[in-house]
Amino acid sequence: MKNYNSLIFEISQPGRTAYSLPKNDVDTVELNEELPSHLLRSEEPELPEISELQLMRHYTALSNKNFGVETGFYPLGSCTMKYNPKRNEVAAKMSGFSAIHPLQPTNTTQGALQLMYELQEDLKEVTGMDAMTLQPAAGAQGEWTGLLILKAYHAKNGEGEQRKKILIPDSAHGTNPASAVVAGFDVVEIKSNERGTVDIEALKAAVGDDTAGLMLTNPNTLGLFEKDIAEMAEIIHDAGGLLYYDGANANAILGKSTPGMMGFDVVHLNLHKTFSTPHGGGGPGSGPVGVKLHLEPFLPVPRVEKEGDRYVVSSDYPDAIGRVKGYWGNFGVNVRAYSYIRTMGPEGLKQVSESAVLHANYLKSRLEPYFKTPYPQYCMHEFVLSGSNLKKHDVRTLDIAKRLLDFGIYAPTVYFPLIVEEALMIEPTETEPKEMLDEFADAMIQIVKEAEESPELLREAPHDKSVRRMDEVTASRKPVVVYQK
Ligand SMILES: *Cc1c(COP(=O)(O)O)cnc(C)c1O
Repeated sequence: MKNYNSLIFEISQPGRTAYSLPKNDVDTVELNEELPSHLLRSEEPELPEISELQLMRHYTALSNKNFGVETGFYPLGSCTMKYNPKRNEVAAKMSGFSAIHPLQPTNTTQGALQLMYELQEDLKEVTGMDAMTLQPAAGAQGEWTGLLILKAYHAKNGEGEQRKKILIPDSAHGTNPASAVVAGFDVVEIKSNERGTVDIEALKAAVGDDTAGLMLTNPNTLGLFEKDIAEMAEIIHDAGGLLYYDGANANAILGKSTPGMMGFDVVHLNLHKTFSTPHGGGGPGSGPVGVKLHLEPFLPVPRVEKEGDRYVVSSDYPDAIGRVKGYWGNFGVNVRAYSYIRTMGPEGLKQVSESAVLHANYLKSRLEPYFKTPYPQYCMHEFVLSGSNLKKHDVRTLDIAKRLLDFGIYAPTVYFPLIVEEALMIEPTETEPKEMLDEFADAMIQIVKEAEESPELLREAPHDKSVRRMDEVTASRKPVVVYQK
């Protein structure tokens, strides 16, 4: 028996089948004349031939190689890899939601529209905004949508040509400057101070009548709350700019504060992070955008609204930026978020952020003695350590991350944010029990010991995985994605 690391093509034997259809007993029709010859297959496709049992073993072995939040701890900073309650999945699978078509007449989809409308209302409350769209399919697309709204606002005021600059702190998530460039802005980087928050003097120096806005994450990606936010909002607004809030990781502030209170004009949320959808492997996501009243006319269309006791769809907004996503965005993610919010209730959501912040600070305090802590103050939902103290043993942060895999733990985010040397960014999330937090801390502490005593153990990790270390440069520059015998 070949081992389960074989490709399905390598275990193929001519003549084996996993499933067979009865013999064809109707006449076959020759379509060849009607199809252009270059579209006709001249050889049999090379498909694997295996039995059903082999097939099951093959895919079960593959799935056992997967790592997810249901196999182990996933402290991936800024990604909110928390447990997603199964009742959300049950709701999303209900045929009334999953079997409807977005082009059905709205009198047959009142329930779906009601869900979207009520979710918009809930998210308005969560963010302190006045209007909401559920269209964007991810955080980054929400950023781009929000920036187009901001651009449309300045254009409407006759300042579209003049206000070209978006200010972004150097600690920001990489999607922020990327979205700003895609939306047609010039990016101005604002330095952080030694406390890890925005340097107010640097902000003042950068602001002018060419400022379109400031993009800010609060708490920022170092897990630190920008305490000067009120002053920053005043500086930007006084200069005629607007404030954009990156709310991808809202599990730090739910029920405690809102971007609306902080002075922001436009915000996106990541429903797939904060509001609970499994989202490893790149999708699916949902990045709703909320705005204050003065930006409402520019929201994407169509919009879901309520008229009396009916839910309607309206595109009657002449200043709207248009449509940013086909149909209604990722509707299934919105159902999960709605289910999650209604399950938790306002008190439950408050507890989410209390636990997220408590867990992060607990882990931070356990690990602080063993790593460099660039920012010693209390953190919010996540924190950043520096592995630079292990460099003297010729051990790098990447080695720590790889060694953690041997402990059955996923690696933290590494080398981000860019402003911290040998960064390890840890977000335990609110859903982990204390025992798991302790197991992770113990593993990290043992790894620091190993770095001193037997650093090669780290440099050669992981030891028991089917893939050790990949040549990531070759993998991205010269990928081999087609099976060749
Ligand atoms: C995840 C994240 C984003 C991007 O969200 P996507 O859904 O991956 O596009 C933006 N900003 C922050 C702070 C994030 O954590």
